[in-house]
Amino acid sequence: MLGPVVVTRADIEEMLDRLAQEVEADMEGRSPIFIGVLKGCVFFFTDLVSRIQRSMEMDFIQVSSYGASTTSSGSVVLVKDITVDVRDRDIYLVEDIVDTGTTLTDVIHLIEARHPKSIQVVSLLSKPSRRQVEVDIAFLGTEIEDRFVIGYGLDYDERYRNLPEIFEMAQER
Ligand code: 5GP
Repeated sequence: MLGPVVVTRADIEEMLDRLAQEVEADMEGRSPIFIGVLKGCVFFFTDLVSRIQRSMEMDFIQVSSYGASTTSSGSVVLVKDITVDVRDRDIYLVEDIVDTGTTLTDVIHLIEARHPKSIQVVSLLSKPSRRQVEVDIAFLGTEIEDRFVIGYGLDYDERYRNLPEIFEMAQER
């Protein structure tokens, strides 16, 4: 099932250090809320925020767009909503991967409806060749090619999230 490593542990650590620095600098003068998009964000979220030495609040949202498949179902269902009040607050939306852009766009619309001051996306990975909806990723780890990846929070049918590095799935789409 496991194909070659796409993003090594060393690459992940390097991206985390860089992104934490960039986001921390951007937080100057703000009292932000970090919102993680479950479940894929778990390791990225905790590793990122634990590198940031400033005051922040956290919350999580869960939507489902993929079943036991490696292609998007194209519809997003809200599974778990945030509980914090985001009105007039600066939001960093933390995502594992932006693929077609559908999920993130829906999540952004959902949060925008509650009138935050700003929303900026922090994503570990992006597959720009798959994009169907334009999404502005303010802070990005790295772009990857059009391949289905697993590990470091990313699953295939709820498995493989625990892998410490990011692998390509061996099987064909
Ligand atoms: P989008 O709505 O941008 O097409 O999809 C975003 C969501 O699809 C991600 O949050 C992630 O859960 C899932 N996804 C997209 N590409 C991949 C991938 O290569 N591997 C895994 N495991 N999930 C993916």
